[in-house]
Amino acid sequence: MNVGVLSMGMPAAFGYPCPSCRTTSNLHDPDCQFDGRERETVESAYVDLLAAVMATPRPRGALERDLSWSSLHAACLSLLQREHRVDEDSSGDLRAVPPEERRERLAVPDPEPLRVIYEEGSVPGCHDNAVFALIAWYESAGFSWAETKQLVVDWLHESNTWARGGFEEPDPERLVENKRHVYEEGYGWQQRAQAAQNVIEGHRGR
Ligand SMILES: [Zn+2]
Repeated sequence: MNVGVLSMGMPAAFGYPCPSCRTTSNLHDPDCQFDGRERETVESAYVDLLAAVMATPRPRGALERDLSWSSLHAACLSLLQREHRVDEDSSGDLRAVPPEERRERLAVPDPEPLRVIYEEGSVPGCHDNAVFALIAWYESAGFSWAETKQLVVDWLHESNTWARGGFEEPDPERLVENKRHVYEEGYGWQQRAQAAQNVIEGHRGR
């Protein structure tokens, strides 16, 4: 099965990143546990996993038995589960999450630092990190740029963030547009989200 066959079920933005350092080339981080694995090997581990669960949802044990299992497969499966691309159904079978369902679920970020930012809104002093982290999250969740922009603009209004001030831009649209490079370069959201959460929680305690 080739990658094209899977594209129907996968958001176009999924770049088959290395499950350890997230590279999408042959060049891994120096301390990556999969350093030396070629792009093709990483991609085919994902494709094996996705093709199997899309054909027939099955428990993890069956997946390990049915594929020529490796630590790379295990790491790729963890990433797919972490990103809600694969999950366990009520009978314990792993299945590919349909893109529509995934989109609905991910519009409200689930990991804790992002959830705090999403629910409480940002405060002056962490706007840059908060907006950066949300854009990076929506990008990694497979949303298009237009969808990402809309989601972040809506959040700026609904979370009261824009009303709190502290922005140089004249309106939320411009603010988000000015951060388009975050989307295009596919940065991770974790560090920025954590930094923003720390500021928000410090602010809350005051
Ligand atoms: Zn790597």
